[in-house]
Order: sequence, then structure tokens, then C-alpha cells
Amino acid sequence: MPPVSERAWWRTLGHLGLLLAAGLAVGAAAGEPWAGLAIGATTALAWQAWNLRRLLLRLRSQRRLVAGDAGGAWAEADRLLQRRQASARRRKRRLVDMLRAYRAAATVLPDAIIVVDRLTQRIVWFNEAGTTLLGLRYPTDVTAPVVERLQPLPLANWLARGRNAEPLEVASPLQPGTTLSLRLLPYSDDLWLLVARDVSRLLALEQMRRDFVANVSHELRTPLTVLHGYLDMLDPQEQPEWAPIVAEMQRQSQRMTQLVEDLLMLSRLESRDELPSEEVVPMAGMLAALRREAQALSQGRHEIRVEDSAGVDIVGSPPELHSAFSNLVANAVRYTPEGGSVLIALRPEPDPDGRTGVALSVADTGYGIPAAHLPRITERFYRVSNSRSRESGGTGLGLSIVKHVLNLHQARLDIASEVGAGSTFSCHFTAARVRARQPVEPIA
Ligand code: ADP
Repeated sequence: MPPVSERAWWRTLGHLGLLLAAGLAVGAAAGEPWAGLAIGATTALAWQAWNLRRLLLRLRSQRRLVAGDAGGAWAEADRLLQRRQASARRRKRRLVDMLRAYRAAATVLPDAIIVVDRLTQRIVWFNEAGTTLLGLRYPTDVTAPVVERLQPLPLANWLARGRNAEPLEVASPLQPGTTLSLRLLPYSDDLWLLVARDVSRLLALEQMRRDFVANVSHELRTPLTVLHGYLDMLDPQEQPEWAPIVAEMQRQSQRMTQLVEDLLMLSRLESRDELPSEEVVPMAGMLAALRREAQALSQGRHEIRVEDSAGVDIVGSPPELHSAFSNLVANAVRYTPEGGSVLIALRPEPDPDGRTGVALSVADTGYGIPAAHLPRITERFYRVSNSRSRESGGTGLGLSIVKHVLNLHQARLDIASEVGAGSTFSCHFTAARVRARQPVEPIA
């Protein structure tokens, strides 16, 4: 059996044929068969044109289609269009429901979500937390310029960075003591998502952790000094059989003291956003001190070389920079077997802005670090080999300290290493930190 549309088509064709035959028959009866046929054809054409016009009007009216009263192919066209319209309406309803559900979910999110037009930087939409955290008002703030509306938050330059904008921590404009973390997520060519999250609790916990570590380290300092003092007073000559035990106790208490000092240094560094004081650090003296420290630690087991092709000084905090560099030098000596060499070099190099910065690198011919460990090597207490680190007196905090010190100097740490061949740790400083070295005044 042919499909419905086929049958309707044949029926319409049949009606047309009948109309033409009727015209021909009436014309023939009147002695004018061609005129009769022409009248029949014109009537058929007019009927089709009429049905076509009615269909177009129905389509244009945007209302729900109802099947026309014409039969055959026209009724079938109506039926098919009606079916399509119904399915399109169902799909649209489903999409609208989905959109409503997403919007409802976004509305109740605890983070403030603001949709911002990229070009005009005006607010397109925001959720309830946009009102509670940032003070936005509905509907007046929809279409308002986001920078103006969120004043006094310093957003103009931050938004200008677009995709490259780093998360920004700001004090809440509404609730004193509340810190918000802002993130910009460009999710289409035209729209950005500005997400503001209340991170006060997280920061408080982080502060608690830092205070705890700092307090414990501080409390341990005094008993350790006492222990150290008594151990130093013990004379191995008096009780020679105790000598190795006393030596071991001294070694361990020294390690604990070093650990406490490193923890205190780390918590001091972490609690700062910027350097306490800045001055020009004479690098000739710094390199000489690093060489002396390396030689003292190596006890003649390594070749220690210093190279200075930059001839410049660095602006920063002298004790912090010294601590970072001497950690790298100590590591180079400790993780290089006897007979190896350590090169401490200060070299000029272009910084990211194309100006002349400087790099201090410490290269060794030691054990090297497997590539898999490199991404985590600056985490506190992360060690490639626990036993080797402990044997060599390491605390596991050295590189953490280096990273923090360099961050405070807006400098970068690069590590290149090959197992069995050695490692190079380089500290890259931008031109802003470089100063021409003052010539040493000859003593008259
Ligand atoms: P540690 O006190 O254990 O040396 P660090 O933070 O200074 O702690 O270093 C972390 C780990 O990185 C070390 O345990 C060691 O495994 C590895 N490491 C650091 N410097 C070197 C180096 N120059 N050569 C080989 N391994 C190194």
C-alpha cells in the first residue's frame, strides 16, 4: 500500500483530471471543446493558487497550524507541516526547560557569577550571590558597565588582560574582613564569566597552618639550644666509649636545629607578599661567599669554580638571596660524588621584555634528578631519595625556600637535569632587578 502522501498526491491528480475532463465534456456539448478545456484548466489553476495562498498565510501567521479544509495533497502538506511544527515546539520547550534548570542552578550557586559582554564590558546577567557578595542590584545593574559597578575593586587593568588574567584576591566591597577571589573565564567569543568566591575561611585556615608551624618551630628552638649546649659540654675524652654516641646525638640535634631554622625561614617568607627591605646586593662579595661555603662543605672533594660574566649587582634582600643561593650551592656539593665539579655562574641574559636581565646558575656533575621528579621538586619535604637527602644532612626544605625567595624577587627558578650527568639550577632575574656594579674605590 503506498504511503499516505502518495495516495493524497494521486487523489489531487485525479481531481485535476476530472475537472479538465468535465470542462472538455461541457465544452464539447456546447460545440467548443477547447474553450471548455481552457475554462476547466483555469479553474484548476485558480483553485491551486487559492490553496497555496491559504497555506502561505497560515505559515506566516506564526500560530499553531491547523489542517486546512482542502483535501488531497494540500491537506497532506498541512498535516506534515503540523507534525514538524509540533516536534519543533516540543524541542523548543525541552530546551527552554533545560535553560531554566541551568539558570536556576547558577542562581543558587554560593559563588557570585556574572556574565559580562566582552566588547562593551557590560553586565549581561548575574546570580543571587552577585547581590550578596558584590552588591549588584537587579534589574538596574543589568547592562551596567562592570568596572564602574564593582568599584572600588581594581578591575579595569585586570579585565584588560582577558584570557591571561590571573585569579585576583580582593577585599569584599560589602563585608569588611571578607576576601574574595575573582576569576575571569572567557567561555565564548562574546561573553566572559566573572566568578567571585569567598575565600576568607580558606585563607584563615591557611594562616592557622602557618601560625601553627611557626609557633611549633619557635617553641622547639629553646629546648634544642639547651640540648645542644649540654651536648657540647660533654667531653669525649672522659668517656671514650660514649664518644660515637655523643657525636651522633650532636649530629641529630644539629639536624633538628637546621630543620627548625628552615621551617621558621619558610613561614617568614610565606607570610610576606613583598620584601621587607631592598638594597643593592654586591654580587662579587656574594659569589666569593658562595665559593667559600662550597669549599668548606666539599672539604676538597670537588672542584669548585666561579664565573662572573655579568659584572652586575642584584637589587633585593641580601639575607634572603644569600639563603637561596647557598641552598643551591649546598645541594650541588651534597648531591655530587667525590671528584665531581660545581660551577657557580653569574651571566647576563635577555629577560621576558627583551631587556638585559641576569641569571645565577649552579651547575654540578652529580647524580642528577629523574625527569618525573622535577615538577614536584620544590615542594616542601619532597625528596628524590630520602636516604641520600638524610645522609647528606638535608631537611627537604631547601628548594622550597629558594622558590619562595625567588618569587619575592619576581624571579624564576629553572631546573635542567640528567641522571648520572648532573643538574643545573638557574635563578633568572629581570632587568628591573639589575644594577651596574660600582667600581671598587682603590684605597689611597
Ligand atoms: P634536601 O634538604 O633534601 O636537599 P631540597 O629541597 O634542597 O631538600 O631538595 C629536594 C630534593 O631535590 C633533594 O632531596 C634531592 O633529592 C633533590 N636535589 C636537589 N638539588 C639537587 C642536585 N643538585 N642534584 C641532585 N638532586 C638534587
